[in-house]
Amino acid sequence: MINKDDVIKILRKVVDPELGMDLVEANMVRDVEIYNGTVKITIALTSSSCPLMDKIKSEILNNVKNLQGVNEVEVITTTMSEDEVRKLFNKIRQRRMFQKLPKRNIKRIIAILSGKGGVGKSSITALLATALIKRKLKIGVLDADITGPSIPKIFGINSIPYVLEGKIIPPVSKTGIKIMSMNLIIGDEELPVIWRGPLVSNAITQFYMNVDWGELDYLIVDLPPGTSDAQLTVMQSLPLDGVIIVTSPQELAGIIVSKAVNMSMMLGVTIIGVIENMSYVKCPNCGKEIRIFGDSKGKLLAEKMNTKFLGSVPIDPVLSNACDNGTIEDYNNEEIWNIIEKALDMII
Ligand code: ADP
Repeated sequence: MINKDDVIKILRKVVDPELGMDLVEANMVRDVEIYNGTVKITIALTSSSCPLMDKIKSEILNNVKNLQGVNEVEVITTTMSEDEVRKLFNKIRQRRMFQKLPKRNIKRIIAILSGKGGVGKSSITALLATALIKRKLKIGVLDADITGPSIPKIFGINSIPYVLEGKIIPPVSKTGIKIMSMNLIIGDEELPVIWRGPLVSNAITQFYMNVDWGELDYLIVDLPPGTSDAQLTVMQSLPLDGVIIVTSPQELAGIIVSKAVNMSMMLGVTIIGVIENMSYVKCPNCGKEIRIFGDSKGKLLAEKMNTKFLGSVPIDPVLSNACDNGTIEDYNNEEIWNIIEKALDMII
């Protein structure tokens, strides 16, 4: 026996070509009546003179009549109220605005996110990018954190991007990582970037679309901390494969990071895992691990988020110097590289 759900399922497959939405999602299905094998469907169109009316009707007829137990199909059309049309168009406008950009020639795009600044998100981004390129993969870093000069500084980039045949050619780091950052354009590290949300969003989109990334295995996007326009743009427009959350054991960072995590979840972005940075410092004399910010909370956070815990990175003054001096690619603390390598094994 045919039931209403079977018919609704079929109507989900009928797309209004003008709206780019199926009839159920567009709230166009007003009624489905079934009686003795006769199916009567009432559809509300956006206007009584809808040019696609016949096309939609015949598509419904053709699809529904193929259902088992259906003898006859009748499609009745009516029109939506002005208020309904307005709501529908708003929904479509929003969807079009946040349509995902194409994947380009990039195999995977991963964003690095933290709840607050200073937890070492850019440093972890740089460590991951460097470890990936050591694995002979093609890597790019898109620095969307325009609030700080971190990424170009960490990689010691002195050259500036230039335009060739309409494409932005990004500077390349010592080991071959393509790097694009607003700070490379502004130049003066001490100048603040006083931009409002829409400009920031535009810059990120342009960096993604107009930079000549070539063929990449991984594009790593360093996001600003928190949950502002930049994160929204990256999560809604870029075809992300997922985000990695960087946190530190400070309770406060843990609470704030929950917001960033919830944002990712609400926007349907996969959380690849959690890396805890600045987890402990090793005593240079006895090797004992001293937990300056208290017990590790990364594992708990990962469990709470139902995602992987990718590891704990200790505090190392040499790492801080390497970041400050732009020599991250020469940094040679074996213990930290092992932690990063293990994290990569869980990611790639
Ligand atoms: P964020 O991107 O989260 O704002 P950064 O990566 O810029 O943070 O790091 C903030 C500061 O902390 C930088 O000076 C960086 O060199 C330092 N830092 C980050 N991680 C470590 C670490 N594990 N050990 C020592 N210093 C670190």
